[in-house]
Amino acid sequence: SEGTIGQEGIILTNDDASVCKLSAVRHGYWQDPFISHLVRQYERKAPEIHRGYYARVMAVQRLTEAFLARCGADAQVLNLGAGFDTLYWRLKSAGCRFSNFVELDFSAVTARKLMAIQRQKGLMTAFKSDEGEVRVGRAALHAEDYHLAPVDLARLADVRTALEECCLRPDRPTIVLAECVLVYMESRACHELLSHLASTLRTAYLVNYEMVGVDDRFGQILVQNVRGRGCDLAGIEACNSDQTQMQRFTGAGWDDAKVWRMDVVLRRLPSADVRRMERLELLDEMDILLQLLEHYGITVAWRDPDGLGLGELDY
Ligand code: SAM
Repeated sequence: SEGTIGQEGIILTNDDASVCKLSAVRHGYWQDPFISHLVRQYERKAPEIHRGYYARVMAVQRLTEAFLARCGADAQVLNLGAGFDTLYWRLKSAGCRFSNFVELDFSAVTARKLMAIQRQKGLMTAFKSDEGEVRVGRAALHAEDYHLAPVDLARLADVRTALEECCLRPDRPTIVLAECVLVYMESRACHELLSHLASTLRTAYLVNYEMVGVDDRFGQILVQNVRGRGCDLAGIEACNSDQTQMQRFTGAGWDDAKVWRMDVVLRRLPSADVRRMERLELLDEMDILLQLLEHYGITVAWRDPDGLGLGELDY
């Protein structure tokens, strides 16, 4: 239940991710004028970390933009374990159109995000709202095209209620984002969540970012490092290989799935921007970066009964 030691460790992983993103943004890896409103603590991270986050953030944003472009303005975004992610504001400032953007996380995280949003006019003014109506609850915020709600993703009944409160419409195309989230869930709870999404959303595209190939020596070091910070990696067995990753989704009712390891992702991002990014900081240990990137991956899975070609979406 909420407030357990394991959950505190998991909640702290959001602070870690946010601090890494802020450091990369300050060093010019990508533009994000919103993140400094959400993250106060600044700590300089290593170039390898910056490059890893560059690949992850670019790929997730580009896949989301590709999905929205394919599915039109009715499309929705569902961000699971959203943490302090700023994607809503980045998409809005890039002129992307969508009908709804829903963010779910533990209440300890959404309460802090809510406070930061309320403090910052620049974050509040992004909300599309005809009558200027924004409803704020305890750890929740509901605007016309943005909803932030507290929920434990492992409790399916609560997730269903939260999705209704956030006006997520099962008949509208939905991109589901899970960035470093599913690995913290028991495999049974994760399976129930993934099955529920596959069976209720008519058209859906899921983007999951997490560790892959964790059974070799380097993978074990990564796992120990996360566990050492008080996190229970309950879903780690699903991160063994590309096949186990894909089966996790196809076994939960998704049509099909595929995996891109992050070394591949970095090679396939737009080359001019990758060259610009590589000139930002010197990198001594290219081998470490490559090992790190090979041990993370993006798995995409889709439900596409109307043949929109979601399986061909690219970043
Ligand atoms: N997705 C964000 C990003 O990439 O910046 C945050 C990633 S952080 C590593 C993991 C997030 O998932 C945390 O904010 C954590 O609270 C959330 N999370 C993990 N398990 C969860 C659960 N069972 N219910 C709700 N949120 C959860």
